[in-house]
Amino acid sequence: MLKKLTDRIFYLPGEDITGRDRPFLYYVRGDRKSLAVDAGNSPAHVEEFYGALRAAGLRLPDLTVVTHWHWDHSFGLSAAAGLTAASAAANEKLRRAAAWRWDPASIEKRLETGEDIEACAACIRREYGGPEAIRVIPAEMELAGELTVDLGGVSCQILRRDSPHSRDGLFVYIPEEKALAVGDGESGDYYDNGGQYDPKRLRAFIQFLSGLDYRWALGGHGEPWEKPEELALLKDRLKEAEHGQVVL
Ligand SMILES: [Zn+2]
Ligand SMILES: [Zn+2]
Repeated sequence: MLKKLTDRIFYLPGEDITGRDRPFLYYVRGDRKSLAVDAGNSPAHVEEFYGALRAAGLRLPDLTVVTHWHWDHSFGLSAAAGLTAASAAANEKLRRAAAWRWDPASIEKRLETGEDIEACAACIRREYGGPEAIRVIPAEMELAGELTVDLGGVSCQILRRDSPHSRDGLFVYIPEEKALAVGDGESGDYYDNGGQYDPKRLRAFIQFLSGLDYRWALGGHGEPWEKPEELALLKDRLKEAEHGQVVL
């Protein structure tokens, strides 16, 4: 069921990691064009999103921006309407993942080498009936820098930044709606850092967020929340990461 955040921003809530690990998918409605944030984790997820858009009388997105390469945000790319975009770094990862084999031995090997992580493998098993249905493709457009898209009455600034979560992040800033789509940028790094925060990366991320004027943070795995709460939590996490102490 599609939810409305502002006159121009809608979203399909996700499903957590005990289920199929579907991220929240966002939609920005312009007068002429529309933009989606994240492609979802499978063609079935895309279809659920598009069904909800149709039911709300909204057209399908003209552009889908993938916030980072992780499977739950990108494996739906093959079913996306319109053009798709990702950072060049995310596309490099996706090209590699496109060559992955999905038989049990290959999956096991990727877990051993750390190329993939168990939490994802379990959710992928729940999302897809059979692994042979998985089709990974890179996005059609690659961004190395910034891009502003005028959708008519509302614009999206697509910003390239590393985050504490992954090194290939794209962020979608919607100034007219005072909103920022952050993907999973607010979490630690499960691939390179055991799910922990790297203080340096987190500090740079807090600085990046502080410099943008927005009210709504649109996260990959939670309801939209407000910037003061978001920053307060991230600053607590930074203290923990710097001093190894738990801040409650
Ligand atoms: Zn992620
Ligand atoms: Zn995610």
